[in-house]
Amino acid sequence: MRWALIGASTIASQYVIGAIRAQADGEVVRLVSGSAARARQYAADHGIAESGTDLDQALSDPRVAAVYVSSTNEKHHEQAMAAIAAGRHVLCEKPLALTLEQAQAMVAAADAAGVVFATNHHLRCSGSHRAMRALIAEGRIGRVLSLRLFHAVHLPENLRGWRINDAGAGGGVIPDITVHDADVARFLLGEDPVSVVAQMASTGMGDGVEDSAMSVWAMPSGAMVMSHESFTHPFAGSGLEVHGTAGSIFARGVMTQRPVGEIELVTAAGREAVAYPDHDLYAQGLAEFHAAVRGEGRPAATGRDGVKSLAVALAVREAARTGTRQAVDYGAGA
Ligand code: NDP
Repeated sequence: MRWALIGASTIASQYVIGAIRAQADGEVVRLVSGSAARARQYAADHGIAESGTDLDQALSDPRVAAVYVSSTNEKHHEQAMAAIAAGRHVLCEKPLALTLEQAQAMVAAADAAGVVFATNHHLRCSGSHRAMRALIAEGRIGRVLSLRLFHAVHLPENLRGWRINDAGAGGGVIPDITVHDADVARFLLGEDPVSVVAQMASTGMGDGVEDSAMSVWAMPSGAMVMSHESFTHPFAGSGLEVHGTAGSIFARGVMTQRPVGEIELVTAAGREAVAYPDHDLYAQGLAEFHAAVRGEGRPAATGRDGVKSLAVALAVREAARTGTRQAVDYGAGA
């Protein structure tokens, strides 16, 4: 399957181009950027034959079957809608859009066009998260009481542009990391947050956008989720804990782009290390996307999953902004 990339991005360069090329039939044939010079340089650096600034031209290339959108967040909606209108399958970066309405429109358009539309929530592709999900689903920890997500990172220097100073581009830690945590909670627990309370702050990096957030989410089952995201924590490490009536799962270093981290299951029987497959997260996501295009199953995270993670993130920001508990609005038909 031949791909066009929209966005001369770091994530494509570090992970997704390689993940596409890891597929037996995966090829990157075009790149679209907002700048002709950047397009040329990026294409040369990554061995992409065609590049330019004309989205319509790329989308009219009959070789292009699928499009990966990894531009800044405010561009996702328009670019994905154009790709869908051109009948292309789309893998879109998170957050799908800046508003719920835009994200819903993308899903509706893809449904109407009969194309695969997926969200690049990589964490649910990891062997570690899949192993934890299986433990929970098998009842190994009993009824889930609570989930604590630790996702406070130290944003690398090269990613400190629009993310920390441009609200218009969709900057801020909530659209950047809270969306991932919302997807993790939904994936692990198999239910969607109902309401949230939250605080956000600028603790050293954020300039006009929040660089830190803490929130508590109520789940339909009665379980509670506590979530912490930040750009400013050099030594916090990442992880999660799931506590149930019959056991607890402790996972360290698992909120990452690489297949690393340790998981421990603690029950009345004692403590045991949990093994998991260490495949590449992005290649796994791409494999499931390619399979979905072949008519075999669904992508790892669908467009609807992207709508829901965005809905939670929007509720967290609104709860923090207003200081009030917010019901999560998933929109009509969710
Ligand atoms: P980057 O900042 O690297 O790239 C975003 C855009 O910025 C590019 O499309 C490019 O625009 C422009 N750009 C890149 N380099 C320069 C430069 N030197 N000068 C001027 N403009 C430049 O973003 P990321 O790769 O970090 O993120 C892109 C998207 O991917 C976001 O939506 C983000 O949320 C998501 N993401 C997802 C991850 C995941 O694991 N799912 C991880 C990281 C990011 P143009 O295309 O016009 O050239």
